[in-house]
Amino acid sequence: MRGLMQGRQLLVSTYLSHAEAYHSEREIVSRMVEGPQHRTTYGALALRARRVANLLADLGLGFGDVVGTLAWNGFRHMEVWYGTSGSGLVCHTVNPRLFPEQIAFIINDARDRILFIDLTFVPLIEKIIDQLPLVERVVILTDRDHMPATSLKNVACYEDLLAGASETFLWPEFDENTASSLCYTSGTTGNPKGVLYSHRSTTIHCMSANFGDALGMRSTDTVMPVVPMFHVNAWSIPYGAPMVGAKLVFPGAALDGASVYQMLEAEQVTLTAAVPTVWLMLLQHLEKTGARLSSLKRVVIGGSAAPRSMIETFQDKYGVAVCHAWGMTEMSPLGTMGSPRAGLDALPHDQALDLQCKQGRVMFGVQMKITDDQGRTLPRDGTAFGNLKVRGPWILETYLHGAGGKVLDDEGFFDTGDVATLDPYGFMQITDRAKDVIKSGGEWISSIDLENAAVGHPEVAEAAVIGVVHPKWDERPLLIIVAKAGAALDRDAMIDFLRPRVAKWWLPDDVVFVDELPHTATGKLLKTRLREQFKDYRLPGL
Ligand code: ADP
Repeated sequence: MRGLMQGRQLLVSTYLSHAEAYHSEREIVSRMVEGPQHRTTYGALALRARRVANLLADLGLGFGDVVGTLAWNGFRHMEVWYGTSGSGLVCHTVNPRLFPEQIAFIINDARDRILFIDLTFVPLIEKIIDQLPLVERVVILTDRDHMPATSLKNVACYEDLLAGASETFLWPEFDENTASSLCYTSGTTGNPKGVLYSHRSTTIHCMSANFGDALGMRSTDTVMPVVPMFHVNAWSIPYGAPMVGAKLVFPGAALDGASVYQMLEAEQVTLTAAVPTVWLMLLQHLEKTGARLSSLKRVVIGGSAAPRSMIETFQDKYGVAVCHAWGMTEMSPLGTMGSPRAGLDALPHDQALDLQCKQGRVMFGVQMKITDDQGRTLPRDGTAFGNLKVRGPWILETYLHGAGGKVLDDEGFFDTGDVATLDPYGFMQITDRAKDVIKSGGEWISSIDLENAAVGHPEVAEAAVIGVVHPKWDERPLLIIVAKAGAALDRDAMIDFLRPRVAKWWLPDDVVFVDELPHTATGKLLKTRLREQFKDYRLPGL
């Protein structure tokens, strides 16, 4: 028997319409690429998003066409998001930190017809425009006064186009399975692959992300997504904030500690989210200046593992609760969120921290299992570790154009490429990327655990661990360290520091000090580059 409820479709436009109707005066504050801060409201932004929808139609784009953006977090980027998806087009947020040839590849692969770009990215697009035969027009997200001199042809000024477009537009209703936005994986191996989200997947993901035990955004919150909108839709915050009427603060291009701090304080932000690298810069700024955080209540840390010392500093020194989250582009991106759990919310300090170092608890809507290499499911005991597989309505079925072939197992689970443990309460802990795990004497050593232990040393700024070839053990760990300025750290001191913290046979065979470590476009350690760099490294005694 069918249910007798209305079949209204779940559509991205409805988030903004809701905010326009009931939170129209709530602010959206942006640090602009041009310099000054800009203030608008949901009401005004909704009108401009309709103008975007009209201008796209005026430019000849229609249902299903793809629009690319290369832009920082800001109000204009948000208008383009809603104007595009809301009218049935696909918004492709291009990650400008990818290599230029990867950017050209994904713009072509996605068949972007128009690009909306921030001033910052004009030189980048000038350089690759000859490789972009399908791009008909480049719209620069600025006003007439700031239009740059450019060699780009068919270039337009966003504010001029917007001024000429009508603000009368009725968001159309269409099938919720229609594509709404597109992100590419960061392509650490091979070309990036497209993940095409639908209105339905985006809405369900976002509603779950808004649960109290997840992002927990409320109308009374002021939320600053430092995580870029080109990084898996800023983890859904610019979708979820209008749903609840939270004030939004966009930090623009300035992600250094001082700039992030200035925005947090000036706008009295209560909730924020970003990768550990950003928080490292903020905490260093606070340490240097002795500044305090006067309004921030919660910080979400994800994208790579949050170091224990970072969680501890935020909570114990600054009184900011940490939510350690995990996810990936293929999962829209959220999969686990580290919120307190009944029965485990009153643990002694150190045990509570141990729990928070795990990647969080499985969200409602995500099914998760770990398996051995034969695909057999392993116990959920918090100890066994295996290949982490996921299934759910906001997890991909296949990559764009079928890239990579069939990616689900016979039960419809997607292999995340992570190796993890899962416990009876749903806490998941990543022990490694399948390709980064160090295989020593038939056993696995977690490079992430070693890195986390190493960054616990007060003189270590950043650490990476890779496996290097060993004639007896196959691989042994090599620890590569960026020391803090003025540190007097050496190999033996570092090994002594690790000795009580990790199993004896996990201790790195050697420690190397470098000035900086290579990172991917999303700020993660680029282990492929490190492995290449150290492929001929000879461990001591060999
Ligand atoms: P995103 O763009 O969201 O970072 P990617 O698809 O680029 O997603 O990378 C996802 C991978 O990042 C995960 O499979 C995992 O290896 C890693 N990752 C994400 N969050 C965490 C975390 N909290 N701790 C450890 N690794 C993480």
